[in-house]
Amino acid sequence: MLSRPAQRTSPFRRLLLPLLVLAAIAVIIGWARVGAPPQVEITPEKPGLGVATPVQVTVQAPGRGVSTVAVELVQGESTWPLAEIEAKPRPWWRFWGEYTPEKTLDLTVGRQQLPELREGEATIRVIAGRAPTWLRHPAPVVTEKTLPVRLRPPSLDLVSTPNYADQGGSGLVVYRVGEGAVRDGVRAGDRWFSGYPVPGDEALHFALFGVPYDLEEAAKVVLEVEDEVGNRADRPFLDAFKVHPLKHDTIRLDDAFLGRVVPAIQAETPDLVPSGDLLADYLKINGDLRAANAAELVKLGESSAHELLWHGAFEQMPNSQVMSTFADRRTYVYQDRDVDHQDHLGFDLASVRAAPVPASNAGVVVLARYFGIYGRTVVVDHGYGLMSLYAHLSRIEVTDGQKVDRGEVLGRSGQTGLAGGDHLHFTLLIHGLPVNPVEWWDGRWIERRILGPLQTAENS
Ligand SMILES: [Zn+2]
Repeated sequence: MLSRPAQRTSPFRRLLLPLLVLAAIAVIIGWARVGAPPQVEITPEKPGLGVATPVQVTVQAPGRGVSTVAVELVQGESTWPLAEIEAKPRPWWRFWGEYTPEKTLDLTVGRQQLPELREGEATIRVIAGRAPTWLRHPAPVVTEKTLPVRLRPPSLDLVSTPNYADQGGSGLVVYRVGEGAVRDGVRAGDRWFSGYPVPGDEALHFALFGVPYDLEEAAKVVLEVEDEVGNRADRPFLDAFKVHPLKHDTIRLDDAFLGRVVPAIQAETPDLVPSGDLLADYLKINGDLRAANAAELVKLGESSAHELLWHGAFEQMPNSQVMSTFADRRTYVYQDRDVDHQDHLGFDLASVRAAPVPASNAGVVVLARYFGIYGRTVVVDHGYGLMSLYAHLSRIEVTDGQKVDRGEVLGRSGQTGLAGGDHLHFTLLIHGLPVNPVEWWDGRWIERRILGPLQTAENS
């Protein structure tokens, strides 16, 4: 039987197939594995560009990662580079290893950075490269966002004159704002008092404001207006400013007092964990909790009604004796050591035990509960940022949202919270800032300083 000789394959032919397969794979990967088109997002903080507008650019390139990103601003014939980055994408032949799936650029764009920028329109352009392979170099992805450019703040004209205010006191100012204003009001130090349009005239605004008891310069009380792209104008407006130096007072702390107030406040305030050191816990309450309560009152001020809910003079609690007036700097002494300083911003009014506490004017109850250092507390909103606060109550007799008239009983006086004895802690707040209630107890002052300017404005 004849047998065919075994076929001999040459080494070249044996390698040919795998080489062809490898080449084919290289071609397929080289063709297919270019980076996916990056997803680009351009997010300006404002709906346009102003003097200095924050703009966030996010580039996402899953798979092989971000390679190059260039950001520029285009206006007419001009192009200004804003940012440029070069990241290392994964090599085309590798499926592992580090890469940058997402890159965020925080830029500030505006006249401050680009003095030649003009009003009108400008386009933010992002050129995001795609990771190439040996075979393909795809074009970058170009994303654009065109935005209005506004460089002048709205006009701001003072209407009410003259304007007086006292340190720790209140006032009302009337002014006119120009087109494009989206936020206006009074800034006094680090406090903000929103303005409201005078009913019937959208451009005529007024703001009820308070001067912080510790603000020392009239020039720090300014009218301020801002447009939607963040252009801002301000101007001082006070013609006279009366300073009221802080009074000083000493509070002696003893273990009996700490033992009464500290556990009681902790029991009502879940965030406070007893440390076992009564004095340390007291100082935390007197400092941190006091500050947290103050911040909460500012927040509450934002919910104030856009409506004048009150009428006539505010009333002091009847038959009450003034134990402490507005703005005392208190030194706290424990075992002959000064352990703390805090400012007391309200009136302490003492009457009989569990005396009825009437609303000082008409309004709506916006807080009726245990409230930190103030113990059982009621806050009444009188509209346009003005509120009154009644603290240390033994009993609350109104509920949140309830409408109250002047004189209506809110609860009974007591000594809950940080109180040494049965009394009412009373203060007025404007957008959360405690102000001296003495002015508001005076009907003539209200006519002159609050209602007068408002009526003049309404008739103008
Ligand atoms: Zn008090």
